[in-house]
Amino acid sequence: MQFDTDFTMTIDGRKVEVSSSLSILNPATEQLVAQAPDASAAHLDAAVTSARRAFPAWSSTSLVERKRLLGKIAECLQANAEGFKNLLTLEQGKPHADSFMEVMYSSMWFGLVAQLDIPIEVREDSADRRAEVHHVPLGVVGAIVPWNFPILLAVMKIAPALLAGNTVVLKPAPTTPLTALKLGELLRDVLPPGVLNVISGGDSLGPAMTAHGGIDKISFTGSTQTGRKVMQSAAATLKRVTLELGGNDPAIVMPDVDVGKAAPELFWAAFRNNSQFCLATKRMFIHEDIYEPMKRALTEIAQSVKIGNGAEEGVQLGPIQNRLQFERVKKLIEEARSSGLTLIASDCPVGKGYFVPVTLVDNPPDDSRVVVEEAFGPVLPLLKFKTVDEVVERANASEYGLGASIWSANVEQAYAIGQRLHCGTVWINEIHYQSPFVPFGGHKQSGIGAENGVEGLLEYTNAQTIYIRKTSSIL
Ligand code: NAD
Repeated sequence: MQFDTDFTMTIDGRKVEVSSSLSILNPATEQLVAQAPDASAAHLDAAVTSARRAFPAWSSTSLVERKRLLGKIAECLQANAEGFKNLLTLEQGKPHADSFMEVMYSSMWFGLVAQLDIPIEVREDSADRRAEVHHVPLGVVGAIVPWNFPILLAVMKIAPALLAGNTVVLKPAPTTPLTALKLGELLRDVLPPGVLNVISGGDSLGPAMTAHGGIDKISFTGSTQTGRKVMQSAAATLKRVTLELGGNDPAIVMPDVDVGKAAPELFWAAFRNNSQFCLATKRMFIHEDIYEPMKRALTEIAQSVKIGNGAEEGVQLGPIQNRLQFERVKKLIEEARSSGLTLIASDCPVGKGYFVPVTLVDNPPDDSRVVVEEAFGPVLPLLKFKTVDEVVERANASEYGLGASIWSANVEQAYAIGQRLHCGTVWINEIHYQSPFVPFGGHKQSGIGAENGVEGLLEYTNAQTIYIRKTSSIL
């Protein structure tokens, strides 16, 4: 199944066509996929007005009904999974299998978020008084998402925001707006008008949203650099913000792992989605006793990986999503090479398309750019370590603090190491598992607040305390 190539914005439950557009390219071929609307300030105003108008009715709709509608969205995604899969590969570049997984995860996510409840807590229930803490919706949520997981990251915002009773204006990234626009279109018949508005546009649309007086909260996923701008701009209107930002996640590989079994998992921990993944392993610390065999095993996998157009059978890694990022990653690799670092690179297609070889960097110094920076492309430094204290210190020596993983037969020791790491999520002997019932968020420069779990859900609410005096003199 293929969707038609007519992409329009959804404002107030209706199709909105605009005169100016963005050209959306397939990163594997650099050919035009479609034109996407380029929203003006007036379109943003219209989307916000429609969301504000829809808010009173939506926020007073029962939780049971909101959950039912989230279930309908899950069904809609599932029913159109083939269309979304094809479109996602066309605009993002990832292989069909990964696109399908992202769509199915997104559908599942709506269904599972619908199982969450908004708690009412009783903090005091004495003879004199009862004190309850409620959680009330904020109003209009502006959701801004990046281009690496265009559907899933949008869903992780829309589902809890709507469940909590907010209305939403969603803005996808300028280079991957198509799946979000299609979702908006398909949901016109599912949600009441104005509850979910989807608008697309160029570089000026995000800042216009963060500055907009009619938006109550910005839920942002993107780079740390942009996150700082979002927070600064949101301060003027005291918007709530949740910021899910960059990472430079360490993996710590202890000497007691089985190299042959661990290598494939470690490889994909780093290179899944072409490392365009906030939670990708971006620094791999390998104990010196197994460094050489692990490097050999990772090299073998790198040399067997099939890189190409994600729409072709058997392709495991697609292109980098956009030209800007492609140039950035190539420059990082070139700089590493010219500074004398040892690189081990896979084959990759040449000519059209933003393809970059899978690149391992053999034990570079900790202060080299490939170690310090988030590459957001398939470049992985392998770093040799001797002792636990040393590796903990080096793993923590980053401005980021998103995730980390520890790989060891000694789970007790791995657990103790995990407790010393400065980051929001620690995995032991696995990686990237996420649950809608468990919070996820960054420490340090990796973000503010959390998504997922009750903690993430409550970020779409204001706490409201209700005191009830039981022995009032007026009674
Ligand atoms: P980006 O910050 O360039 O853009 C993200 C989104 O913000 C896009 O929709 C963009 O149009 C918009 N934007 C750009 N400038 C803006 C501004 N001044 N105000 C408001 N919005 C603005 O990020 P990217 O390059 O699209 O994504 C890659 C980054 O995202 C990486 O750093 C990655 O680690 C991070 N990321 C984080 C998570 C997480 O959950 N922590 C998940 C995925 C990606």
